[in-house]
Amino acid sequence: MAELADWDVAVVGAGPAGLTAALAAAAAGARTVVIERAEHPRYKTCGGGLIGTSLAAAARHMQVPARDRIHTITASLNGRREFTRRDDAPLLAMVSREEFDDELRKAAADAGVTLRQRAMVRGISEDGGLACARLADGTSVRARVLVGADGSSGVSSRYAGVRFQQVDLGLELEIPVPAPVAAQWRERVLLDWGPMPGSYGWVFPKGDLLTVGVIAARGQGDGTRRYLREFTGRLGLAGFPPARDSGHLTHCRADSSPLRRGRVLVAGDAAGLLEPWTREGISFALRSGTMAGMAAADAAAAPDPVRLDRALDAYPAAVGQALVPEMDAGRRLLTAFSRHPGAFHTGLASPKGWHAFARFCRSELPFAALVERKPVGMVLSLMSRF
Ligand SMILES: Cc1cc2nc3c(=O)[nH]c(=O)nc-3n(C[C@H](O)[C@H](O)[C@H](O)COP(=O)(O)OP(=O)(O)OC[C@H]3O[C@@H](n4cnc5c(N)ncnc54)[C@H](O)[C@@H]3O)c2cc1C
Repeated sequence: MAELADWDVAVVGAGPAGLTAALAAAAAGARTVVIERAEHPRYKTCGGGLIGTSLAAAARHMQVPARDRIHTITASLNGRREFTRRDDAPLLAMVSREEFDDELRKAAADAGVTLRQRAMVRGISEDGGLACARLADGTSVRARVLVGADGSSGVSSRYAGVRFQQVDLGLELEIPVPAPVAAQWRERVLLDWGPMPGSYGWVFPKGDLLTVGVIAARGQGDGTRRYLREFTGRLGLAGFPPARDSGHLTHCRADSSPLRRGRVLVAGDAAGLLEPWTREGISFALRSGTMAGMAAADAAAAPDPVRLDRALDAYPAAVGQALVPEMDAGRRLLTAFSRHPGAFHTGLASPKGWHAFARFCRSELPFAALVERKPVGMVLSLMSRF
């Protein structure tokens, strides 16, 4: 006989993936708990740039605490060949992750989700028809289904056997700046294509704070740090002491990497769901979290093992349909960009290139649809070959 579950659905991690999973599960009537090792509001190394998809997904649950709305993008090629484009409609929204995640936490609490903060999950197991999260304090939480959303280096990834094909190191500074400097950056971001293949840097404005970061393939720590130093120096920002200076790895899943093991689903960074070129992950976390939460609630309510299995299998199928094509397209863009950043920069500066990029930012044109266009596909294939 099956043991008694404490919960229908238990979620590990209260980031965007975990909280949207909990919101979806609770909306479907599941008794849902989220276990989070930190306490909100908590810092997370992240640019906090929201593309249109992220904004729309988050706005379903809360008033998005945007610190800025971006109308202007400046792009440069390792500090050279700078150009600026402006659009009347906002392109991106900028959030501080402390504020964004905390608002999502409040929405989950309002929806009836129980949140256990300062509770670290040490291990996951399955027994007696239940999933079990073992906590650092020696207690455990048992649920009919568990959603692992504890980021890319977490216990859920390891339990599910997630495999990563691309690992990058992101470094970021949060720099408080005086009002005249903040005014120069209002409504504008800078994207700089960096000196290492596939690398780039950014300045994201958040009112009186600038998030300045760079990202590059793992294994080039010294070069990545040098790039951040030079980037910050050339922008005249090196004289302002950063309030935070941190780094974090991003992981993109391998093609056949699992999204489910038994009664455990993995979502967001824990599943390696991230767009490989921009390393944009918030929209993937919000969408995969919602899909996982819906599947988990369905499975928890299933009257027999066959229907439970079918409900859980709906999750990898939904990710395969909606998110995998976008990752594939991002990978193609990254390959071409890594080999020919200069040609990429020229293309982006062209009216068509800029129009396509602006539409990507607003999520009117997903990368998957862009690379399906014959001329774009042909150019990318050529660029990737030579
Ligand atoms: C430098 C950098 C810049 C980025 N900039 C952007 C950007 O501008 N826009 C964008 O869309 N994406 C960006 N990303 C990616 C984005 O940050 C992630 O994709 C996103 O945070 C994934 O959300 P998540 O909910 O899956 O994981 P997370 O946000 O990492 O949340 C995981 C949660 O799980 C908790 N946790 C971890 N382990 C345990 C445990 N054992 N027990 C309990 N709780 C646990 C953590 O405390 C955390 O709260 C950036 C990433 C980096 C590294």
